[in-house]
Amino acid sequence: MRLLEEKIKLDGRVLSDNVLKVDSFLNHQIDPQLMNELGKEFAQRFAAEGITKIVTIESSGIAPAVMTGLYMNVPVIFARKRKSLTLTDDLLTASVHSFTKNETSELAIARKYINESDKVLIIDDFLANGQAALALVEMVNQANADVAGIGIVIEKSFQPGAQKLKENGLRVESLARIASLSNGEVTFIKENMEELV
Ligand code: 5GP
Repeated sequence: MRLLEEKIKLDGRVLSDNVLKVDSFLNHQIDPQLMNELGKEFAQRFAAEGITKIVTIESSGIAPAVMTGLYMNVPVIFARKRKSLTLTDDLLTASVHSFTKNETSELAIARKYINESDKVLIIDDFLANGQAALALVEMVNQANADVAGIGIVIEKSFQPGAQKLKENGLRVESLARIASLSNGEVTFIKENMEELV
């Protein structure tokens, strides 16, 4: 998606060969106009899937997920990273190892928010090794609902997550696909570079 790639080029900061910082529009400060466009794009790409719920993970997935939910007119559920005192219902749970924080957290979603007739679209900000997305898939499976697809804002295609999800038969739509972060530079995979010309 050209708009997103331009924003990454302009405001993204390469922290290392495998970490991109986008705190100025996605992970800390949020650009609502851009989130609106991302939501519209996800809604278009998954329009034919009969999506009934969107599931994401707190906190950085929430903004693009909510905008997508607005365009698809479906509720958005975010997995909480630790069991809160108010989360006392029957729970769907999975553990996830964070790529950026190098810590494992327990994810939880109240079971009542996903039922077996749901067709779920999973949304997240980044895809690296696929741990976060797979944990969300596991929780949707615990509810006996269907995962209709996975929408990712920024896929680091040089890491194994996208391939892993596709090998599991999941449809993955990523709005920006990064081929490399080497030498402090963001390189998008070729089809997206052509879009930029
Ligand atoms: P995965 O579970 O696919 O290994 O990593 C995805 C999660 O790690 C995302 O939810 C995101 O929060 C975080 N993440 C992975 N790579 C990056 C990155 O390069 N930059 C930022 N800001 N977050 C990342």
